[in-house]
Amino acid sequence: MLEKLSHPHLLQTGALIQGQWLSAPDLYPVHNPASGETLAQVAKAGADLAEQAVAAASQAFVSWRATTAKHRAGILRRWADLMMQHQEDLAQLLTAEQGKPLSEARGEVAYAASFLEWFAEEGKRAYGDVIPTHKPDSRILVLKEPVGVVAAITPWNFPLAMVTRKLGPALAAGCTVVLKPSEETPLSAHALAVLGHEAGLPPGTINVVSGDAAAIGGAWMASDAVRKVSFTGSTRVGKLLMRQASDTLKKVSLELGGNAPFIVFDDADIDAAVVGAMASKFRNTGQTCVCVNRFFVQDGVYEAFTTKLAEAVRALKVGNGREPGMTQGPLINQAALSKVQRHVEDALSKGAQALCGAQPDALGGTFYQPTVLINANDQMEMAHEETFGPVAACYRFSSEEEVIRLANATAFGLSAYFYSRDLARVWSVAEKLEVGIVGINEGIISTENAPFGGVKESGMGREGSHYGLADYMEIKYLLMGGL
Ligand code: ADP
Repeated sequence: MLEKLSHPHLLQTGALIQGQWLSAPDLYPVHNPASGETLAQVAKAGADLAEQAVAAASQAFVSWRATTAKHRAGILRRWADLMMQHQEDLAQLLTAEQGKPLSEARGEVAYAASFLEWFAEEGKRAYGDVIPTHKPDSRILVLKEPVGVVAAITPWNFPLAMVTRKLGPALAAGCTVVLKPSEETPLSAHALAVLGHEAGLPPGTINVVSGDAAAIGGAWMASDAVRKVSFTGSTRVGKLLMRQASDTLKKVSLELGGNAPFIVFDDADIDAAVVGAMASKFRNTGQTCVCVNRFFVQDGVYEAFTTKLAEAVRALKVGNGREPGMTQGPLINQAALSKVQRHVEDALSKGAQALCGAQPDALGGTFYQPTVLINANDQMEMAHEETFGPVAACYRFSSEEEVIRLANATAFGLSAYFYSRDLARVWSVAEKLEVGIVGINEGIISTENAPFGGVKESGMGREGSHYGLADYMEIKYLLMGGL
């Protein structure tokens, strides 16, 4: 299907260094998770190419940081526009390598472009400060400066948006970038880089390699020239990168796993809660880090909510994301399917009951039937570990105090959702949840103008909003004496 791209030059399989697409002695395959077909063979980079990428980014940093914020903004703005002009090609590519329905892929292109647009504007407002002095003959000024070369390492669940959420602020701040997209989905990142150069990014400002993730990550973490790492992915790899980054004391932004609770109180608007639940649980076949992992439903509405949720879930359409009307694509790979199966079997063996689904789909491959489980409890594996699949497990609770304790009984703290119409309860619960993001009577919380990020083992740093720019800037204070 990739030959159907209207702009075939978007399909690149090399490593991008200093504006050139380089080949490598070894290649690795990229598959379509819906069909198993091999889409492309991509240059397999290791430490050598990773180091070349850093050299290119270091060289480019000297002149890029010296450009005006307005100049950088113009390029980012054009890049966002080019993404939207190529929305259909980018969406086709994204669905082919990632599996999500085309409608979601088109939405991701727009969402990804929004980060470039936002940071194009925000970069122009990275104001410094003048601080009232402590000595009459001196003045104190504060400058904001780019941190330097940034290593961005991104996952496969949002192959475009997780890239622009890092590259937008990095480039707007005046940093240059070495990027390693996921080996599951490098082609979308490559297409994005092609458009970045068409928009006017100078060679070396973004460099893209993938292949041997551990070797590339190791080389970048060991490098003095890399001053910041921005990572989205598993908690295991996030911790590894933070340990590795400590030798050279890089700045670290980590957006890691979650274990999101979704609480439905007795006073909730149940129909609205079902709509929010569907959006936050089943988007991207349950493969987002802010997807609900645990539904806590109060006694009085347990039957009503779970019955309506199961009705909505039965109406989902499982299939190849390329086909119109499909709402649930395949899981990304066999390991993802095995994890979902293991979690569901474990839950069923410990007393859960399935209202629907709970088995692989007849389509085979990595397709899994969207599932609703009731009578879930905290002895189940899925209570403690992100399932990352289309499984809604519903727990019952009685009191507000009990559900706060249950919701916070996890090492993770990325997002939480709850539905209630009682204003006092809304404030009290929002303040007690140990997370970075709270959706209140709302299931979709991602937007470029709000700060996205977690607490506890879900990571550190914020992406999007004006806080997102600050993560890519250092503060320098000037004391001018003898005045
Ligand atoms: P997931 O389980 O969702 O694939 P990972 O944390 O394994 O999450 O992957 C997220 C990103 O981290 C991907 O780009 C992956 O290639 C990369 N990655 C995996 N292992 C390492 C490593 N040792 N060093 C650097 N990056 C890595």
